[in-house]
Amino acid sequence: MVMENAQLGFICPSAMACSYLDQAAQALKLSPDVVEILSAPRKVLTVSLPVRMDSGRVRVFVGYRVQRCDVLGPFKGGVRYHPHVALNEVATLAMLMTWKCALLGLPYGGAKGGITVDPRSLSVGELERLTRRYTSELIKNIGPQVDIPAPDMGTSAREMAWIMDTYSSQQGHAVPGVVTGKPLSIGGSLGREQATGRGVMLVVQEALQRAGRTLNGVPVVVQGFGNVGATAALLLEAAGAKVIAVSDSQGGYYRAEGLDIEALLTYQREHRTLKGYPAHQLTNRGLLTLPCTVLIPAALEDQIDVELAPLIQAEWVIEGANGPVTAAADAMLQARGVTVIPDILANAGGVLVSYLEWVQGLSYLFWDEPKVNTELEKFLRRAYDQVATLAQAQGVSLRLAAYILGVGRVAAALQARGLYP
Ligand code: NAD
Repeated sequence: MVMENAQLGFICPSAMACSYLDQAAQALKLSPDVVEILSAPRKVLTVSLPVRMDSGRVRVFVGYRVQRCDVLGPFKGGVRYHPHVALNEVATLAMLMTWKCALLGLPYGGAKGGITVDPRSLSVGELERLTRRYTSELIKNIGPQVDIPAPDMGTSAREMAWIMDTYSSQQGHAVPGVVTGKPLSIGGSLGREQATGRGVMLVVQEALQRAGRTLNGVPVVVQGFGNVGATAALLLEAAGAKVIAVSDSQGGYYRAEGLDIEALLTYQREHRTLKGYPAHQLTNRGLLTLPCTVLIPAALEDQIDVELAPLIQAEWVIEGANGPVTAAADAMLQARGVTVIPDILANAGGVLVSYLEWVQGLSYLFWDEPKVNTELEKFLRRAYDQVATLAQAQGVSLRLAAYILGVGRVAAALQARGLYP
């Protein structure tokens, strides 16, 4: 069952996402008409997903896809599997994707999808049936020129392969361009799996370099040890930083002299969790408030709020996750002199290499990993430079500068295209 455009007026992204849009719109002096168009998603889909469980019983899950704005190109955004997935969260993430793609100069509009499910509670067979049913419910609304899903929290290359196969079966031929973040064997890109974490590492490097510092021995704390957090930790360690603490949903682990990230990854592979890893244990709060130079929240949104903001001891907060700092906490951090590198810049490496994967697929020409990483670095450093230059010129935070650039590019495209009919 699909409910299209269901009560668009109630599909409200978080107050935080709306307040940043408002601030950027004011700085850009956008007309109220343009702001009104930018404030509403193009299409909102809620789908009910009956799945035959291994027990023989049927369970019905709920899935979403919010397509925010396609003025620059096809919709693009991840698919999240998490028990807390809800429509307003998906709508917020779709909005962030819109500004992120524009900030990076990618020809994409923003989207996001998700299913309210704890993927760890399902067998592989159940997950596959759920993913294929979700895809078939969205089949008319996705496609290489329409909307291109990618992995997000709780999904990976495996789910993208199932989406691609289900979509292709309906089309009667292989359509690799319908998803990005897929396995290499079916047209994925080298470097895609590590891209978001690599981007986070590059952004940390850039921030420190601009402050006349290097990564050597710099204490780093990472919340979330999944695709983004673990890769960022691994690459930062390789670049000379000292990762003193990491966490997953079960808890945090700390070693003052620096953790061994490879050893943590091996432990996680063997135990499917970090629980029991031999290091000093920390609560989530304890981890986030540790003295360190760089703090990377790379798990969930709203992790640093007004209660925690005064206790943060890092000099830089790099938003690996989407929306991990609330708007009020962001203002408090700024007032305390903590530099926050916003999500739409800090974690843009993923969509960037997704774009490179899409380009390689459309041109049937695949690149080696150094070329992918070089392009990633080029795009990301250019975007960082544009954001930092604007922030300095206008005396605004890096977040507002990033929003001004992203929102401004979407607004300019909207004005150039005009209103149909
Ligand atoms: P993932 O599922 O691979 O990993 C998430 C990690 O967070 C896991 O280690 C999980 O145990 C941990 N976690 C969950 N709840 C936690 C809690 N309360 N405290 C500490 N850790 C907790 O997800 P991911 O792909 O790494 O995504 C993480 C964040 O980065 C999300 O906000 C996602 O939207 C964002 N992001 C991901 C990508 C990507 O390419 N994967 C791109 C851009 C942004």
